[in-house]
Amino acid sequence: MRPGEERPLEGGACSGVSQLELLKLRAAERIDEAAERLGALSRAIWSEPELAYEEHRAHGVLTRFFEREPPAASWAVQPHYQLATAFRAEWEPLGVRAARRPLQLGFLCEYDALPGIGHACGHNLIAEVGAAAALGVKGALEGLPGPPPPVKVVVLGTPAEEDGGGKIDLIEAGAFKNLDVVFMAHPSQENAAYLPDVAEHDVIVKYYGKASHAAAYPWEGVNALDAAVLAYNNLSVLRQQMKPTWRVHGIIKSGGVKPNIIPSYSELIYYFRAPSMKELPVLTKKAEDCFRAAALATGCTVEIKGGAHDYYNVLPNKSLWKAYIENGKKLGIEFISEDAMLNGPSGSTDFGNVTFVVPGIHPYFYIGSNALNHTEQYTEAAGSQEAQFYTLRTAKALAMTALDVIFKPELLEKIKEDFKLQLQEEEFLNTVE
Ligand SMILES: [Zn+2]
Ligand SMILES: [Zn+2]
Repeated sequence: MRPGEERPLEGGACSGVSQLELLKLRAAERIDEAAERLGALSRAIWSEPELAYEEHRAHGVLTRFFEREPPAASWAVQPHYQLATAFRAEWEPLGVRAARRPLQLGFLCEYDALPGIGHACGHNLIAEVGAAAALGVKGALEGLPGPPPPVKVVVLGTPAEEDGGGKIDLIEAGAFKNLDVVFMAHPSQENAAYLPDVAEHDVIVKYYGKASHAAAYPWEGVNALDAAVLAYNNLSVLRQQMKPTWRVHGIIKSGGVKPNIIPSYSELIYYFRAPSMKELPVLTKKAEDCFRAAALATGCTVEIKGGAHDYYNVLPNKSLWKAYIENGKKLGIEFISEDAMLNGPSGSTDFGNVTFVVPGIHPYFYIGSNALNHTEQYTEAAGSQEAQFYTLRTAKALAMTALDVIFKPELLEKIKEDFKLQLQEEEFLNTVE
């Protein structure tokens, strides 16, 4: 096949419109047809918010959704896949001719909420986008008159994004093996095919001192609160020497029990972020020196415990994001400029780790509100009817991009090439097979 050529589709097409474009239209129609079911799915998750690793009701709602999708038993659903609240649902077209390995496209659903403020990050909409895009691709391929291409649509329910990193558990369990490209989308304030989500390392720091009467025998005490305060200040001083792209933020979780007792115990929680996994250990080392210095100065002992999982930065895949933008524009999505995209505000996500094992796209989408993520106003917006239009439009753009990947072998090659180059840039290639 020559570069740029599309894989031939079975069946006819109207003159002037390529068969692939018609197929994309069909995917969008299928998503519209399922709009009510998809909206109900998202609302059910939204109305009963659950925290990381505890998304039992959302898991039930999603697995039932795929089990009941017509025609009956078309999705092979594995509830409690690798984790209690993760799942996997697979669909393959009937009558695939080729015996070769199918192209496996993954659609990710998140569904955890935040403590106290519910779905303030709109993960109910992420679940809906993932489900909708998968239904769109399935619907389009089912309509092919001839033998379908060897494709497997895989929906992965990935719990615990806000805390813990369920995708990292799933990577370690092999859930992403054999996937060729993965797709998901995250609610935001703007439409961006990519935002530079950064790498993150979390620590819990504990200082152990010695209690004493703060008025009668203060010299007998070893003050753990002082150690925490010094650590906080050490890091604040370090900020002047930090790169502008680094972020350090922390809280004093425990700082004593009563003013007349010299605090014998204190605890801090800190998050460190840097644009890449190359820079993150540099920052972490400097920060740990700050914690140790505070222990030395006060005579406390210190325990520094890293979180179970580091979140990796999200690797860009330009070929994939370009295809997504092209499809999105056809649906009327207005994207922020590439410059704004690359310099935009960002957080961290366990999807970053996914992009180190398989090429993927994690675009952001506007949901009809200017409220900011992680606020009560955003919770309201994520549950509103207005968000539905934007959510389904994003799902359509993802489904259309997936169809490009299926029917343009040249694009898939470029996506794989981008992936390799990014890993090389991160000096990570040796760890990925
Ligand atoms: Zn989120
Ligand atoms: Zn969030």
